[in-house]
Amino acid sequence: MIRWNTDQTDLRDGLVRWGEALSADHITQEEQGTFSWDKWKLVRQTGILALPFPEEHGGLGQSLLTTMYVLEGLGEHCRDAGLSFSVTTTMASTGVPLTRFGTAGQKARYLPPICSGEAIGAHAITEAESGSDAMAMTTRAERDGDDFVLNGTKIFVSNGPVADVFVVYARTRPDSGALGVTTFLVDRGTPGLTIGRPVKKMGLRTSPLSELHFDGCRIPRTQVLGRVGGGFIVLDHVMKREILLSFIVNVGEMRHRFGRCVEYARTRRSFGKPIGSYQTVANKIVDMKIGLESARKWLYDTAERLEAGQDVTEDLAIAKLVTSETNMASALAAVQVFGGHGYMSEYGLEQEVRNAVGGTIYSGSNEIQYNRIAAQLGLGR
Ligand SMILES: Cc1cc2nc3c(=O)[nH]c(=O)nc-3n(C[C@H](O)[C@H](O)[C@H](O)COP(=O)(O)OP(=O)(O)OC[C@H]3O[C@@H](n4cnc5c(N)ncnc54)[C@H](O)[C@@H]3O)c2cc1C
Repeated sequence: MIRWNTDQTDLRDGLVRWGEALSADHITQEEQGTFSWDKWKLVRQTGILALPFPEEHGGLGQSLLTTMYVLEGLGEHCRDAGLSFSVTTTMASTGVPLTRFGTAGQKARYLPPICSGEAIGAHAITEAESGSDAMAMTTRAERDGDDFVLNGTKIFVSNGPVADVFVVYARTRPDSGALGVTTFLVDRGTPGLTIGRPVKKMGLRTSPLSELHFDGCRIPRTQVLGRVGGGFIVLDHVMKREILLSFIVNVGEMRHRFGRCVEYARTRRSFGKPIGSYQTVANKIVDMKIGLESARKWLYDTAERLEAGQDVTEDLAIAKLVTSETNMASALAAVQVFGGHGYMSEYGLEQEVRNAVGGTIYSGSNEIQYNRIAAQLGLGR
């Protein structure tokens, strides 16, 4: 069990006072699908965006585990799950690969605004014909002198409508599979880049998502992130941290939901007794507790192993599966515990079910995680 020190608990406790403001109007904003710039300003003031990044570039120099611990607190105190999703998206998509693979010039230019939240980041991997099989992407980046010229379309880009910088994965060699993919930093406003309109989606609606169209979009060689042909390595590094940073937020959300259900089950009476006294209701809440504690252990344990340089292929797949599945089960159980009230939007629980479904799809769908575990077991060859 990790014992958090006072510096870490102080960082997390510092978030508590922001919770109410970050959660303000979240049900209405979710219904309308609006990204709140006012709340983004508050996010910037919390300092959370800077947590894991180097101090010389405006970061707070915190470890992966400390960052996760604070993000878990964000999930617990911020009811606007889309806002939290935009936070972890900018961190994982842009700050994380820049810190690991960026040149001195790229870090100096992009990290300070990413840390302060002045700039929002996004990443563009998925295409209409390549989702789970990301390395089948066809967006091309062809060399032309000192530039690369991008052509193609990316879909489902979280933060797309509001982002200032895009980390774009494109094919630099036609027939080389994963080795033919390269990562580029593309600024909003670059000629040849068109950002599509926000796409309506099932949940996480306060985090906007769009397509990106590249039509002869010219990018200088200096905007390559990592090596030419090294896109798969960048993506692998990013996806590991994306799972840890974004799913730990779900654990905080599960803890908050669990607390609400305990309170409700103690006070809501039926047939003259609190509903929590009925075992069929109590068991749902016990399962919520078991689910969130299991997810939490898997995520922190995997992060510790990753930081220790160990192979976490299987652990990460299990951690992602356990967290997303228990989050969905817990969200459904909460609706059931609240009965008809849980089904009504004003209680904020039905949107948690819709939000939770997304977690079974992004960051590598759960079917793909099953495949990874099966492959580790030597199955499916
Ligand atoms: C909320 C949200 C945010 C997202 N944000 C981003 C983003 O910021 N940037 C980005 O690039 N993408 C983003 N995505 C896209 C996401 O990464 C893809 O949707 C995901 O990888 C699945 O790809 P797909 O949608 O094309 O489904 P497909 O790959 O077409 O899969 C369809 C179904 O088949 C299953 N399947 C596919 N292959 C296999 C297999 N080999 N074995 C078993 N089952 C299989 C899948 O699990 C799924 O159930 C986001 C998606 C969502 C829902």
